Amino acid sequence: MHPCSSSCLPRREFLKTVAASMAVATVATTAAAATVAAPGLASPAHAQNTTQNVSQDGPVVLPALPYAPNALEPVISANTLGFHHGKHHAGYVTNANRLLKDSGITATSLEEIVKVSATQKKQALFNNAAQVYNHNLYWQSLTPGGGAIPPKMAELLTRDFGSVDAAKKALADCAVGRFASGWAWLVADPAANGALKIMDTMNADTPLTMGLTPLLVIDVWEHAYYLDYQNKRADHVAAVIDKLLDWNAALARLEQAA
Ligand code: MN
Repeated sequence: MHPCSSSCLPRREFLKTVAASMAVATVATTAAAATVAAPGLASPAHAQNTTQNVSQDGPVVLPALPYAPNALEPVISANTLGFHHGKHHAGYVTNANRLLKDSGITATSLEEIVKVSATQKKQALFNNAAQVYNHNLYWQSLTPGGGAIPPKMAELLTRDFGSVDAAKKALADCAVGRFASGWAWLVADPAANGALKIMDTMNADTPLTMGLTPLLVIDVWEHAYYLDYQNKRADHVAAVIDKLLDWNAALARLEQAA
């Protein structure tokens, strides 16, 4: 059994949730959209020495990092951050714009491109656009000196997982247990009265297409940690949860979506 299956939505429930939450899909994506469309969302005091948003040849852009490349050390090195943002994330941006040109899809917002490419089963475009979306949220899920959980978020985690520690353990289990490449998420489920849930997705898959509101995400593709941790994914995940996760930003996304 998958380590996070007890805290994740079972597949069957997922399908029901997707169907049931179509009406609130717009609400569910509003907060997420801000991660792309509103650079002002990421303007903390430590946001210095960042590059400008990089426009590519199309509507999909590479947002600037919301902190300096060495700001997440020692948990994530500047070297890893440089490759991850400047090569991997940027590569998805370039590929998404290239694939969009011949797709017949006229959407210009990243969220719509992700959803429409999923619906139309344009897998290559979906993979690249969704990876841009997931990485945009990933950088905004981390912050230097993070890890602290504001009282309101602690209350919600206790409500839905029994305790803060249980929620953090469920997130770690999801991140470590995700076989091969993917993502571990904290989401809110509009179809369940906004209940918080923890889940993982494979490869580029994203809660954005599942009627859920993404709040936090941890990248567990090997490129996220291999230069610093090699095969020790669990050590990387534990450090990210304890020292980098921006629970205040998660709470802000939740409140924006409400
Ligand atoms: Mn990545």
